[in-house]
Amino acid sequence: MSLLLRNGTVVLADKTFAADVLIEGEFVSEVRAGIPENAAERVIDASGMLLLPGGIDVHTHMDMPFGGTTSSDDFLTGTRAAAFGGTTTIVDFAIQARGTRMRDALDTWWGKAEGKACIDYGLHMIVTDLGTSGLEDMDDLVREGVASFKLFMAYPNVLMVDDGTIFKALSQTSKNGALVCMHAENGGAIDVIVQRTLAEGKTAPIYHALSRPVTAEAEAVHRAIALAEMAHAPVYIVHLSSEAALNQVREARDRGLPAFAETCPHYLLLSIDEMDRPNFEGAKYVLTPPLREKENLPKLWDGLKHDHLQVVSTDHCPFCFADQKVLGKDDFTKIPNGGPGVENRLQLIYHHGVNQGKLSLNRFVELVATSPARIFGMYPKKGTIAPGSDADIVIWDPEAELTIGVATHHMRVDYSMFEGFQVKGNTRQVISRGEVIVDGGKFLGKPGRGNYLRRAARGGAWK
Ligand SMILES: [Zn+2]
Repeated sequence: MSLLLRNGTVVLADKTFAADVLIEGEFVSEVRAGIPENAAERVIDASGMLLLPGGIDVHTHMDMPFGGTTSSDDFLTGTRAAAFGGTTTIVDFAIQARGTRMRDALDTWWGKAEGKACIDYGLHMIVTDLGTSGLEDMDDLVREGVASFKLFMAYPNVLMVDDGTIFKALSQTSKNGALVCMHAENGGAIDVIVQRTLAEGKTAPIYHALSRPVTAEAEAVHRAIALAEMAHAPVYIVHLSSEAALNQVREARDRGLPAFAETCPHYLLLSIDEMDRPNFEGAKYVLTPPLREKENLPKLWDGLKHDHLQVVSTDHCPFCFADQKVLGKDDFTKIPNGGPGVENRLQLIYHHGVNQGKLSLNRFVELVATSPARIFGMYPKKGTIAPGSDADIVIWDPEAELTIGVATHHMRVDYSMFEGFQVKGNTRQVISRGEVIVDGGKFLGKPGRGNYLRRAARGGAWK
């Protein structure tokens, strides 16, 4: 099957140009003006449309166990929702259970995605225990295309690992070329504050945020970068939320260190004020790190513009308000941590970034597609529109208007953190490996059509 996209405007990380795009099978074969109409079996007129590389969300949690419940989107509903919003690749997190081999977790997560994933997906491995065979396991996983490992400096007794473990893992990546991703918050100090807060009878959702100060994040970011410097390895900070933490990354990068970081739409567009909502609705915004004071928001946008931050991901980890968030009605520590977002990333960042003049169109593409592809070993298969690349293309209508919320979204969750947000700019069609999987608000892809992506070690963070 061949498909020709005619008269569109191709937007890449480094240039914008008028062109036709010819797709043969699953791949892009030609990108140039004036490809004849009879070159393909099917033609889509893309006049007035932008042709963007498919979005890549490198931070999602589908079907993830947390605190006695499971995130409400699985690999079917979550990847289908992602596709509606123009994301054609996700990288999700498999979680090594303490005392088990990482390979077991990989098998478990492959099983979760099997027959369900609607778009291509990669996996990071969350390391909770290096044990006696952990370093060999890391090498083994790199051979399976798991080219990144996430470690936690927070959640003591659950996911948190000590500095020695982090340093060992970082050192191993300096040999195998993988990338360490850090959840950077000082979990030990936070735990003490949490216990004090509960002892004072403070149980409402807002105390989740008040017990996780920005200094706890900035300290951990600093420590993560220092450990990476000692190990001669790059490091990637996930879901960076505050100016104080951003300053740590910026200073490291100014010194020439390979430190990278992502932020998420909720840190760019929402503040701690949301958590004071009545009727327990603050719980809808309980995620980690927490939403911050609104002074941080413009600093994060600035960080994106000036490449102190390299990626926008979502940390999509939805829990329904009615029957999951409510588990913490009397104790904020029992509220499942996470919020939905995988569907609305491109819409929100395009509208609030490009339309409002905070980001160029090219920088937008770089942040949501190209830079994640490079950093995580998927480029140029993903993250660009060029001959030989996978034909993952979003036909983007810059004039389409949308009111974000439960009435319009496709995520399996009963609320939106961005309820009522009006945006201009949305997908018209979404193409994944040459197949039109979203067209005019209808999903045409088959569950299970998404492939596991073997990602390469020594990606962009090592250059
Ligand atoms: Zn996460």
